[in-house]
Amino acid sequence: MATLTESRKQSLRRALEAIVGKSAVLSDREELMVYESDGLTLFRALADFVAFPTSTEQVSALVKLASQEGLPFVARGAGTGLSGGCLPSEGGLVIALSRMTRILEVDYDNHLAVVEPGLVNLHLSWAVGPRGFYYAPDPSSQQACTIGGNIANNSGGPHTLKYGVTTNHVLGLEVVLPDGEVVWLGAKTREPQGYDLTGIFVGSEGTFGIATKIVVRLLRKPQAVKTVLAVFDEINRASEAVSAIIARGLVPAALEMIDQVTIQAVEDAFGCGYPRDAAAALLIELDGLAAGMEAQAAGVVAACMEAGAREVRTAKDEAERQLLWKGRKSAFGSYGRVSPAYMVMDGVIPRTKLPYVLRRVNEIVAAHGLRVGNVFHAGDGNLHPNILYDPRRPGEEARVVQAGAEILKVCAEVGGSISGEHGIGLEKMDYMPFIFSPADLATMHRVKEAFNPRGLCNPGKIFPTKKSCVEVGPGYRPHPIEEKGLAQRF
Ligand SMILES: Cc1cc2nc3c(=O)[nH]c(=O)nc-3n(C[C@H](O)[C@H](O)[C@H](O)COP(=O)(O)OP(=O)(O)OC[C@H]3O[C@@H](n4cnc5c(N)ncnc54)[C@H](O)[C@@H]3O)c2cc1C
Repeated sequence: MATLTESRKQSLRRALEAIVGKSAVLSDREELMVYESDGLTLFRALADFVAFPTSTEQVSALVKLASQEGLPFVARGAGTGLSGGCLPSEGGLVIALSRMTRILEVDYDNHLAVVEPGLVNLHLSWAVGPRGFYYAPDPSSQQACTIGGNIANNSGGPHTLKYGVTTNHVLGLEVVLPDGEVVWLGAKTREPQGYDLTGIFVGSEGTFGIATKIVVRLLRKPQAVKTVLAVFDEINRASEAVSAIIARGLVPAALEMIDQVTIQAVEDAFGCGYPRDAAAALLIELDGLAAGMEAQAAGVVAACMEAGAREVRTAKDEAERQLLWKGRKSAFGSYGRVSPAYMVMDGVIPRTKLPYVLRRVNEIVAAHGLRVGNVFHAGDGNLHPNILYDPRRPGEEARVVQAGAEILKVCAEVGGSISGEHGIGLEKMDYMPFIFSPADLATMHRVKEAFNPRGLCNPGKIFPTKKSCVEVGPGYRPHPIEEKGLAQRF
């Protein structure tokens, strides 16, 4: 989008204020800078405005205004995304949903809740916990990320091995379409009639419209939980234990791996009880009926010991369980102890390829003169290599991006994918051809155009930019970031 003239900016600001109020619009550069990035700080883009609606009507009015004015707009939840998805990559309006945080309805009999999109994920479980319920999708960022952001990215988390990702827990959505129309997709029941438009909206990374109400499933808390820590002197043995556990027919609720670099960072930050000298540790959680739980735990212990664990222990109480989980869920933040910055990758691979791919990750990163820490959803084969770097060193960011691209290429080559849960956003759009053909991309583009024909809703995301990659449809055009030369990644 061309830069706005000062007079147009003033008149747009007045129009935005008329919708949401004076105190709910930002347009000063210093204030806008707070919204120029998400959890992946490698990318930055400055909006012209940030507006904070408090109702569906206000979101709809903002979107109608943006549509009339030809102003690009993008929804923002908590900004914890790790692919640049909520960045205003062409400027325009950020619609920040952080003031739409209400739980509108809880129906315990039918195990569902209706929530606003800015509700923090964990706050829902806190609200329904006293009645014995919880909301299952648990991204490690759940203390901060919003359910609207989870919907957009179809987020996962440690416990999605057993319970599935966000899409498995969303029944219906109220959506403001990119022309401002408000529609309902799905319903409050499991199998609504017609096309599964809720399913298509979940995971669309904010490019199909803005969710303003979300109907989610609530689950009853499990009767019993057992959390096991298995410690290994060789990372390969930990990888083998992952397959061995699943091969026994056990389905843990969570099966997470954390490597030595990460263990040391976590121990420096929180002292969670992971042995510092271990090459890798598995955090395995079983839940369900109390009957049979001991037998399942014994199966996990045996599988780990047979794979060569040097120590396997079960959390003796809830306090120890919480501490072990704190180490896992705070691992990303802990890298601050060992590196000024990191970039988290999000590849998916078949579980059986773990030993090979982890070796390749280490080789690739070392070849670029960098270090890596791994903490990931091993049971799902969803890797998170975290490439550690110092942005103050000239050329280091470019090497990080290059190493990241090579890692994702390896994931694709072994039959995996370039994103398990963080989305494509800005970060991975040029890697889409690793896994999709031109025909696939053109089809996806047509679906996007059905929802978002003018392309004003979260433009410049998901589809590859490089002219050498592919022409993806009539609406295709190179992204401004490419023109600025920032997309020279692979
Ligand atoms: C420490 C850390 C740990 C993480 N762990 C995990 C993890 O275990 N699993 C996982 O999946 N992710 C994880 N993430 C990534 C991130 O938290 C998730 O992608 C999360 O869902 C983003 O939510 P958000 O509210 O911050 O969304 P934002 O970052 O604000 O936005 C993300 C996307 O959602 C869109 N969006 C936001 N609200 C709406 C709406 N109402 N309607 C339509 N589109 C909308 C935005 O436009 C953008 O495209 C982690 C991030 C961090 C920083």
